[in-house]
Amino acid sequence: MDYKEYITIVEDWPKEGIKFKDITTLMDNGTAFKSAVDEIVEYAKKQDVDIVVGPEARGFIVGCPVAYALEIGFAPVRKEGKLPRDVIKVDYGLEYGENVLTLHKDAIKPGQRVLIIDDLLATGGTVEASIDLVEQLGGEVAGCAFLIELTYLNGREKLEGYDILTLMQY
Ligand code: 5GP
Repeated sequence: MDYKEYITIVEDWPKEGIKFKDITTLMDNGTAFKSAVDEIVEYAKKQDVDIVVGPEARGFIVGCPVAYALEIGFAPVRKEGKLPRDVIKVDYGLEYGENVLTLHKDAIKPGQRVLIIDDLLATGGTVEASIDLVEQLGGEVAGCAFLIELTYLNGREKLEGYDILTLMQY
């Protein structure tokens, strides 16, 4: 399926010069959304994953239906102060300390094979931070799956040695 026809490109949002890839028009279309989720489900089966991890907020939208279809768990990665129990943390992004992501301390068991899912791979900072959290808990990152990859931002370079699936490239 050509998923790109369901993505809306929003010029100058959220800032001038950014061409935001809006996935809500793909989510609006039940057939396209299911097909995209199904492709990631097939990939997850191939990678033999035990649990899905997704960063807020769009990682939940794509990651949860994949976990549901496989009857496996989903663990949310969230910004600091959002998860209610003991967490581990990672600082990420350009300005040290500005961005903190967290994961519940008991979300992943050592040796579990984890699939990290987000809507979009840009610079790779978000997924790199999510990998860090999973590995702090002894999880094994079996793969990373995204609907969209912005190839010109070279996020893949941060993910050397990890298996990656992207359904659309810009
Ligand atoms: P990265 O950390 O790889 O630079 O950025 C990826 C994160 O930013 C993802 O969590 C994604 O949701 C968000 N993001 C950045 N640009 C876009 C965009 O154009 N469209 C969407 N839907 N998300 C974006």
